[in-house]
Amino acid sequence: MRSNNQTTHSIQIGGREIPYILKASPRRRTVGMRIDRNGLTVSIPSRMSRRDLPDMLLRHADWIEKKLEHLSVTTPEIEWEDSAQLLYLGRELTLDAHPGGLRSPVVLNGEVLSVATPDPDDSTAIRRKVLAWYRQMALEDFTRRIAILAAKLGVKTPPVSLSNAATRWGSCSSRGNIRLNWRLIQAPPPIIHYVVAHELAHLKEMNHSPKFWAIVETMCPDYVDLRKQLKTLSAKLHAAQ
Ligand SMILES: [Zn+2]
Repeated sequence: MRSNNQTTHSIQIGGREIPYILKASPRRRTVGMRIDRNGLTVSIPSRMSRRDLPDMLLRHADWIEKKLEHLSVTTPEIEWEDSAQLLYLGRELTLDAHPGGLRSPVVLNGEVLSVATPDPDDSTAIRRKVLAWYRQMALEDFTRRIAILAAKLGVKTPPVSLSNAATRWGSCSSRGNIRLNWRLIQAPPPIIHYVVAHELAHLKEMNHSPKFWAIVETMCPDYVDLRKQLKTLSAKLHAAQ
């Protein structure tokens, strides 16, 4: 519900642009903040100066970040229907479900992912086709990245397969087989790069010692930040079930 005293703004917190709804009410005497499915809502007395608002929000940056992160943990699963919002390589795609043969390929055209099914309201069929497409894109992307980074690291390109793990993004077996979660294909490329570098580094160090992280760093200098970003994004990537 929108009304005249409600406006949308945004603020930079922790390097992220956080949108918020500002509600001004003549009856309010204090500032209130709420975080729910609509994101951050800030309620202020009508007469309060807006100039102090950014500073005030920044003083509560920790609380806002923590709450938003918690909320993202409970992100609802994707509804597999026309106009659904999907993620691919960090880009937001819109699903276009239309009638057509089950065997017709899924097509990415700009930011629209076209999926044909005999019944465009058949969410099971849509889901199956989109997940198969994700897996195919994931395997191609991860295979290419692993080959490039393995050469850089000076190791033989290891075999790669996809996992569907609930919590792990990747693993490296003692035999040197790398498994990567297909859901990573939704993440921005630098994050995929980090996970690939991480698992490849295990070919040299089967632990998380400082020596291990030094190897990761040679392939991925921004790994500390990317690791944090992956954590924040985690729940969103798991909305694809
Ligand atoms: Zn590891």
